Amino acid sequence: MTALGATVVDAVYVVAILVFILGLKAMSSPATARRGIVFAGAAMLAAVVVTFLSPGLSNFAWIALGILVGGGAGFYWARVVQMTAMPQMVAVFNGMGGGAAAAIAAVELLGRLTGPTAYLSVAGAIIGSVSIAGSVIAFLKLQGWMPSAPIVLPARQVVNFGVLAVGVGFGVYAVGWLHALYLAPFFALLLVYGILLTLPIGGADMPVVISLFNALTGVAVGLDGFALVNGPLGDAGYAMVVAGVLVGAAGSLLTALMARAMNRSLGNVLFGAFGATTDAGAAVQGSMRSIDASDAAVLMAYAGEVVIAPGYGMAVAQAQQKVKELADLLAAKGVTVKFAIHPVAGRMPGHMNVLLAEAGIAYDKLFDRDEINAEFPAVDVVLVIGANDVVNPAARRKGSPLEGMPILDVDKAHNVIVIKRGQGKGFAGIENELFYADNCRMLYGDAQAAVGQIVSALKQG
Ligand code: NDP
Repeated sequence: MTALGATVVDAVYVVAILVFILGLKAMSSPATARRGIVFAGAAMLAAVVVTFLSPGLSNFAWIALGILVGGGAGFYWARVVQMTAMPQMVAVFNGMGGGAAAAIAAVELLGRLTGPTAYLSVAGAIIGSVSIAGSVIAFLKLQGWMPSAPIVLPARQVVNFGVLAVGVGFGVYAVGWLHALYLAPFFALLLVYGILLTLPIGGADMPVVISLFNALTGVAVGLDGFALVNGPLGDAGYAMVVAGVLVGAAGSLLTALMARAMNRSLGNVLFGAFGATTDAGAAVQGSMRSIDASDAAVLMAYAGEVVIAPGYGMAVAQAQQKVKELADLLAAKGVTVKFAIHPVAGRMPGHMNVLLAEAGIAYDKLFDRDEINAEFPAVDVVLVIGANDVVNPAARRKGSPLEGMPILDVDKAHNVIVIKRGQGKGFAGIENELFYADNCRMLYGDAQAAVGQIVSALKQG
């Protein structure tokens, strides 16, 4: 490549890096998030395209085949995925990133087993392998192909530490003493460690885990980037370092936010097997009482303030447009309408914000759990739409799988109406005593249909 060509390639990497940063900034608000995704995607495309011009690149046919198969599968899946299956898809795509980082590290290690960068590749391989194996388990749990409850194996702390220590030992030995053969047990043991680490995490702690693997994938890619900088593809490594660092930093912040939302430390989530208790809320006494849509409509129409608390069921039912219609109708009748958003409601960070923003509900109507919790005792009606764990008072009880998770204190309101289809439990799989409370009424049905019935009743009334 000529000097001019090399300068152009470098310039494209620099611009791509800047656009990654702008894209990430735009993703920090639901209003600009879509633009942020387009920015980041376009920058990544540009970085990939110019990499083809790098002098050290060969095996074009294999690369093209990989792009075709991977890109085609990703494009297809992203188009057909249901909104409710998005978290699983994010988990898998995350894992793919970790897997790719581990594969790059493997190629690097097989090609150059010496020098300090080899240790960076070992680090990238460790983190990438743990990330892909853990993400696969997270996928299986979220998809419901594996129980979401913690799976706690005997002596797991000792076994897990042993597997990790021996695995890392193989990697260090392979590099330090130039024995490429030891890379095989190195990778195998780290994959096993990723599985063992994720099996005991369950109940309501999956948001923390998904965010953590996201962060780890970024770190693994960044470390690979460092290793690549000294290789034939040199400058592509810089773009990888920046992209990896951005993903690692954003993922780490998200992990901290999610852990705080659950009132858990990261160590507690990873090593505490939280939720591994036999307490399934079976102690709840009494019976649930139902309400029909027209009575629910009357109760809300005459209320001074109605707070809507959405959860995963709203996403399943895709009820957000109907919810917006309901909020507008109530507001037109002079009712103050607010939305109470729990940080882990739904199945991915920001799930409720995204759905409500999609329906055109103004941001100033959305209130964080911490902003609104003190208000509930003065609220006339709370309408819980397909939420369960995030409004489960069992979280206040010692020994509950949800123990310590701050919930939306909807049970303190004067009246609570819960829309859900039947007796289904929440993600943590425990009974919800709210549904049996004196101030609570159940409106059974699919959230979209039930909210639609309330809307019709309000229009007629
Ligand atoms: P939950 O999963 O606890 O409960 C959802 C409720 O919605 C169920 O009880 C179900 O009852 C009801 N439901 C399902 N489909 C419909 C429908 N079509 N119409 C009406 N109701 C429906 O949801 P929450 O949002 O309260 O809590 C989220 C949980 O998921 C937490 O435990 C959280 O930790 C976990 N999680 C969150 C992630 C995140 O990042 N936000 C990621 C991974 C897990 P029924 O079947 O009777 O209708």
